[in-house]
Amino acid sequence: MTAGLGLCAILTTVEGSSAQVIRGGTPSCQTVALTFDLCPVRQGTGYDADLIDYLIEHRIPATFFPSGRWIDKHDPEMKKLLSVPFFEMGTHGQVHAHLATLDEEAQRAEIITAVDRVKTRYGLTAPLFRPPYGEFNDATVEIVRKLGLQFILWNVVSGDPDPSLPTERMLTHLTASTRGGGMIVFHANGKGKHTREVVETLTQEFFPKQGLKPVTVTKLLACVPQAKP
Ligand SMILES: [Zn+2]
Repeated sequence: MTAGLGLCAILTTVEGSSAQVIRGGTPSCQTVALTFDLCPVRQGTGYDADLIDYLIEHRIPATFFPSGRWIDKHDPEMKKLLSVPFFEMGTHGQVHAHLATLDEEAQRAEIITAVDRVKTRYGLTAPLFRPPYGEFNDATVEIVRKLGLQFILWNVVSGDPDPSLPTERMLTHLTASTRGGGMIVFHANGKGKHTREVVETLTQEFFPKQGLKPVTVTKLLACVPQAKP
């Protein structure tokens, strides 16, 4: 990870972490996944309407990872996201806890509570799970496996919650780092001051030029590369 691009997404490297931790798709598929975390916020709306409206207007597939606490405060926004057929919904913990600091029972509760929330409230089965802050340990990986969820991380960090990170620097990093099979982490909770601008440039200029197609995480992972004749 490039220094200064972390913040909300601080990756903890875990010795011996399992291959079950998914960071991206197959490079030769020429597809990329735009992923947006919906971490709880103390101030502001917690919802980047400009960004979401842009994605909807341009029919850009995207995957969202709402935390349970965010869901509790954003029922109309959840319903709107769920109404978009090319959006996909995972979960991101209940209270956005630092999982690696918790014992196994507390980790399990943090993970499953948000999954149960979307099931009971919206009738949605959401098997994609992204750990808050990208932090986890071996116990987390095992709990996620036992719950039948998919452990989704990323292989490209946008750095979008950093208010001091200019659009140009973000784009320089993203265009240098994103290839086929790319899974980029952004935020859609309003913390990313330049997220919409960056996503707009990627989807209108960089992806078309590179022949990359945005898809949901599930589609990214389902892609099987065609054998060359
Ligand atoms: Zn988060």
